[in-house]
Amino acid sequence: MQILLMGPPGAGKGTQAVKLVEKFSIPQISTGDMFRAAVKEGTELGKKAKACMEAGTLVPDEVTVGIVRERLAKEDCKNGFILDGFPRTVEQAEELQKILEELGMSLTKVLNIHVPAEHLIERAVGRRICKTCGATYHVKFNPPKSDKVCDNCGGQLYQRADDNEETMKKRLSVYEESTRPLIDYYKKVGVYAEIDGRQPIENVTEELVNVLYSVKN
Ligand code: ADP
Ligand code: AMP
Repeated sequence: MQILLMGPPGAGKGTQAVKLVEKFSIPQISTGDMFRAAVKEGTELGKKAKACMEAGTLVPDEVTVGIVRERLAKEDCKNGFILDGFPRTVEQAEELQKILEELGMSLTKVLNIHVPAEHLIERAVGRRICKTCGATYHVKFNPPKSDKVCDNCGGQLYQRADDNEETMKKRLSVYEESTRPLIDYYKKVGVYAEIDGRQPIENVTEELVNVLYSVKN
């Protein structure tokens, strides 16, 4: 199954991707996670991505498409994958189409997690992530049992540098301008479905899984 999870920053893509990884045993491919890892390691890629991420703007398409092309060619994607946070521009979507054609694949479903803008800043500012295993929490909507400690592995929780109100405003305006047009793009392709992301996390997962089962059968 080749799944694309779409939605504005803070909609719940990463949270849901983890659930779908468990359910379908296919890898999550998050360009945001890949860039954060590269920044942490101080690689060339990290140097290219850092300033854009801090400013809340998009990393240039040629850089982003390159890392996705390499990643999708890996053996563990043969049975499918969950793209999370890519594509974010129509140009990236067109490049993705070419990459998939080269690999003899196509998208099974594009799932758009719809959350209105007024909820997204609160979601991002309250997001906390485990330094060790990457699990995502929210101080109010999905709090860890013990403050600042991961339930899964006991790791330390941190707040992303770009999860502040000012950068989030920029990220949302970038979403409106560059990423929202993908909704019409994928509606035309005909594999598009929308899920209400304002529901509790488990209900969103249930709806996503139901849509995917309806495709499979
Ligand atoms: P994205 O990957 O789309 O940026 P995340 O999955 O990281 O979003 O979720 C953003 C924040 O919102 C996290 O703190 C997460 O715990 C929280 N969250 C995710 N889904 C929901 C939901 N359905 N209801 C309330 N909060 C949610
Ligand atoms: P995310 O973790 O998806 O919220 O992404 C964090 C940041 O990484 C974004 O604000 C961008 O700067 C960068 N980024 C992630 N995915 C992409 C993409 N597909 N295209 C361009 N930039 C991206």
